[in-house]
Amino acid sequence: MAALDSLPPLREVIQRHGLDARKALGQNFLLDLNLTQKVARTAGTLQDVTVFEVGPGPGGLTRAILALGAKKVVAVERDARCLPALAEIADHYPGRLEVIEGDALKIDFEALASEGPVKIIANLPYNVGTQLLVNWLLPKTWPPFWQSLTLMFQKEVGERIVASENDDHYGRLGVLAGWRTHARMAFDIPPQAFTPPPKVTSTVVHLTPNENPIPCSVANLERITQAAFGQRRKMLRQSLKPLGGESLLVKAGIDPARRAETLSVEEFCRLANSL
Ligand code: SAM
Repeated sequence: MAALDSLPPLREVIQRHGLDARKALGQNFLLDLNLTQKVARTAGTLQDVTVFEVGPGPGGLTRAILALGAKKVVAVERDARCLPALAEIADHYPGRLEVIEGDALKIDFEALASEGPVKIIANLPYNVGTQLLVNWLLPKTWPPFWQSLTLMFQKEVGERIVASENDDHYGRLGVLAGWRTHARMAFDIPPQAFTPPPKVTSTVVHLTPNENPIPCSVANLERITQAAFGQRRKMLRQSLKPLGGESLLVKAGIDPARRAETLSVEEFCRLANSL
């Protein structure tokens, strides 16, 4: 395959800038630019698209996104050591890479999305990945400010995101993602593709908005899923007792003897609407 760009290999970048990986920051770098391209391609066309990236690190995925033609990349990185390496990429692609130093959990991505279509692509730090996804699933307005999310997670988290009823991985994440998006696992990435290798396999999840999710209060849906899956092996009449138990279930037309993992997203929304 032809070189992605004329920038130096990532190993050299990491060495030159002293970017030894820090576990506390969830740093497992993808150095294979063919793989980073494969991740970026999963997001579909990037022409005229602004991409938000969380945790660019030394910039492997950032380079792939830019090489594939994104109009602009806005990348949020917490580790200041990475900024000089990212500045080299910004010089190579004038006006197309903006780096924000900071904690992605504190960034209002919705407010940053001012012009044109936005896609979010990231190899997420494992310790904040789930929270970021939930934030992107629950923005102030829906349809959301993003056209798609292409995100790398530990495989077990990916399985929870795409899970539906009667699946062992089904829980709050599966209900939220199933309610508001179409989510699929695109492909796995083995530990040895990363430096340093994590203990588990990773997976790329691709989500696009469900334009017309069942109308339902987020707060009520959160209360119901929290109570129902908090005691997932119990019958719903028991686990939902603090929220109305049997009478709530009857009102929603759901058999009180069922368990949380057998309920479809539509049934969870019915419960939330009956609260
Ligand atoms: N994108 C690079 C790649 O694919 O090789 C690095 C991915 S690494 C798994 C996660 C990155 O997220 C690291 O660069 C880390 O410093 C950064 N990071 C960790 N916590 C963060 C946070 N709260 N906000 C922004 N970036 C964060």
